[in-house]
Amino acid sequence: MSCAFDFAHYRELLDAARAGGYRWAGFDAEPEAGVVILRHDVDLSLDAAVALAELESDAEAWSTYFLMTRSIFYNLDSHEGERAVERLRALGHRVAHHAVWPHLDLDDRFDRVVAWHNPDPEYMREPVEGATNVMTAPWFDPEHYRSDSNQHWRSGCPHEALAHGDFEWLQLLTHPEIWAYDGATMGETMRSFLDADREARLEHLRNDRIDL
Ligand SMILES: [Zn+2]
Ligand SMILES: [Zn+2]
Repeated sequence: MSCAFDFAHYRELLDAARAGGYRWAGFDAEPEAGVVILRHDVDLSLDAAVALAELESDAEAWSTYFLMTRSIFYNLDSHEGERAVERLRALGHRVAHHAVWPHLDLDDRFDRVVAWHNPDPEYMREPVEGATNVMTAPWFDPEHYRSDSNQHWRSGCPHEALAHGDFEWLQLLTHPEIWAYDGATMGETMRSFLDADREARLEHLRNDRIDL
């Protein structure tokens, strides 16, 4: 099995977790033995998030999507943003807040769960008033956490350990953009994202009755 950052291998990760006997969970209860908490920080693309959400739903999995209100790449207040939130919820996923320090915009679009975007160590593990910070105990500890940052698994791709049931439980952070767009490196994948984004923006221009 090649551990590519693409939808085919993401599906294999879900299947591996299933084969390892895991069940899905969120951040509303303390993690128990045998759960995998799927978490997605959506940094760049709502289209990628919705595409991954469809894949998960097809695999009978669900996860928690952390969406930004202060992204420079997408606008959650736009029509597209509203549609994305609706679609994620309709597919059975949870929607939480990917916040930019020190701002918390925990309105009723979000469950009371927060993941900071690119957090500094000073506040990454600090409790958040009125909400769950996903990087605090009991939801976080390094032994029970894997993430795909910049197409790099610090401790290797977890598919094999999941299939063998090696984790007591796991919080698995993945970024939809990394898996949704083609590219053998992070740079290539980001350029694929930008190509798709350019096409989407041309469509927005047409919808705004701009002569192209
Ligand atoms: Zn793998
Ligand atoms: Zn982020």
